[in-house]
Amino acid sequence: MHQLVIIGGGPAGISASIYAQRKRMDFVLITREIGGQVIKAGEIENYLGYAMVDGVMFVQRMMEQMERLGVKPILDEVVKVERLEEGFLLRTFSGKEYVSKVVLFCTGAEHRKLEVPGEREYTGRGVSYCYTCDAPFFKDVDVLVVGGGNSGFEAVDQLINYARRIYLMEIGEQFKADEVLREKVLSSQKVVPLLRHRVLEIKGDKRNVKSVLVEDLNRKRVYELEVEGVFVEVGLKPNSELAKSLGVLTTQREEIIIDCNNRTSERGVYAAGDCTNVFAKQIITAAGDGAKALLSVYHDLTYGIHSWI
Ligand SMILES: Cc1cc2nc3c(=O)[nH]c(=O)nc-3n(C[C@H](O)[C@H](O)[C@H](O)COP(=O)(O)OP(=O)(O)OC[C@H]3O[C@@H](n4cnc5c(N)ncnc54)[C@H](O)[C@@H]3O)c2cc1C
Repeated sequence: MHQLVIIGGGPAGISASIYAQRKRMDFVLITREIGGQVIKAGEIENYLGYAMVDGVMFVQRMMEQMERLGVKPILDEVVKVERLEEGFLLRTFSGKEYVSKVVLFCTGAEHRKLEVPGEREYTGRGVSYCYTCDAPFFKDVDVLVVGGGNSGFEAVDQLINYARRIYLMEIGEQFKADEVLREKVLSSQKVVPLLRHRVLEIKGDKRNVKSVLVEDLNRKRVYELEVEGVFVEVGLKPNSELAKSLGVLTTQREEIIIDCNNRTSERGVYAAGDCTNVFAKQIITAAGDGAKALLSVYHDLTYGIHSWI
């Protein structure tokens, strides 16, 4: 039996693994891939010690640090977690089994989908969840950005450099992005704001997106927008299904509820980073959270495991 299994190798899980290794703990880090969302982050300007660093480079640095300390992540997906009389049994996609005293969820988050016809069919063929990766592919064409929060506005801010016209859609009465970003983006001649609108369907020619069926909720009117790209920026969905299967309490947004020491409502189950109810969803906060969680695990394995309840 291991002392700990860390699930997820984004900033939270990597940070936890570094602390665990330095504490000489018997642990396993299992992750689908190394880096998590950071791989898609593009240029990062808000991590302490780096004025600017590319996401892929940042992930490389984290890998170098793990390697230097001797952390060997297992590339696999945890598909099931069960509580045993003592500890937990974890099963992975490749069929391996691991037993540990405690589990630390660093499973992060994924983009929410629109859940409309055509979205799945045209993902990667016009529908994108990563403006930093895909914006340059939409040179001199019309595109739609769905979501009027900070990430929607940041997507538009990047697309202004490439696209011909950018429709910016928000289902609510107002855009929710920060004032500075709002002023910058909405002053561009290329941007067409569409408040109180929603997407009904994404249409194409079987190969690429050609248009989007939208509804103007105020005028009760349905019409078609001719666009070749749809950037979906409607928020994040925490990866909390496995934790929930253990009975861990979550918020309405399905975030794992933790206390300030990263304990969940279930004994022996800990969580850190974007999968939790911590308000700030950033690299620096996830990394700090992973470190903090590991120190709690270490403390509890030494002095007694308990939940926040
Ligand atoms: C486009 C974009 C730009 C961003 N820009 C910035 C920025 O400039 N600055 C900033 O601070 N933050 C930025 N962020 C946010 C930042 O990347 C996240 O807050 C941070 O990565 C969260 O770290 P995490 O470790 O909690 O989760 P994640 O990075 O989501 O990592 C979770 C990991 O767990 C793995 N995983 C999930 N479930 C399982 C399972 N069952 N089995 C095995 N592995 C599993 C996932 O595959 C992933 O590798 C950006 C995010 C995006 C998407």
